[in-house]
Amino acid sequence: MQKKELLYEGKAKKVYKTEDPEVYIVSYKDDATAFNGLKKGTIVGKGVVNNEMSNFMFRMLEKEGIPTHYIEELNERETAVKKVTIVPLEVIIRNVAAGSLSKRLGLPEGTALKCPVLEFSYKNDELGDPMVNDYHILAMDLATREELDQIAQMSFKINQLMVDFFKSVKVDLIDFKIEFGKTSDGQIILADEISPDTCRFWDSDTHEKLDKDRFRRDMGGVEEAYEEMMRRLGLRK
Ligand code: UDP
Repeated sequence: MQKKELLYEGKAKKVYKTEDPEVYIVSYKDDATAFNGLKKGTIVGKGVVNNEMSNFMFRMLEKEGIPTHYIEELNERETAVKKVTIVPLEVIIRNVAAGSLSKRLGLPEGTALKCPVLEFSYKNDELGDPMVNDYHILAMDLATREELDQIAQMSFKINQLMVDFFKSVKVDLIDFKIEFGKTSDGQIILADEISPDTCRFWDSDTHEKLDKDRFRRDMGGVEEAYEEMMRRLGLRK
């Protein structure tokens, strides 16, 4: 598998075409941004962690019946994935109040939610990824009713599988963001990444943060937290 034309360069990843029109290569960078690009920095080794952790999670979810874009890890930073058109939504699932939900609803961080909360944001950097509901999504034709139902159903199943898995390695999954894509034949599959950039992970006993909040909030120990998550997954000694 060879990288051809660069298709897209985002904040944390590059996407290349390959000789196969149905296959792209994703290349993970160490660049980190927060607050819609206002805060910029580097997390050394992050690209490797996010590539390897995402692939680990996608393989686990595939085994549990969730279709994903994952094809094959090519090297520590690069992975072959199925070509999809990204549904322009950030799908957020929350189990415990944190971040923007805590601010918006006045719930202290760490407040358990009685049931998981699903939120959608419209992926649009200029607008700062505004939160939208089903009606906005249908009115703007970002997805059909059927696609939206499928996305919600898959997201709750992914949440349950991930909560259970992370609990087994003494990590509480507070919340996370996922994205879905549509294949050439119209199938909705999980795409993008699952990593400490896109999830909130708290140590189950100490509640220590093991994710990108350490970067967002200038807490230090960012690289160490990412490496600790890799140890928990059995991907590092
Ligand atoms: N998230 C993400 N990308 C974004 C916004 C949020 O991956 O552009 C993730 C974030 O890491 C967290 C969850 O989605 O796990 C919920 O984030 P929140 O809405 O609380 O926003 P934040 O506090 O990160 O601004």
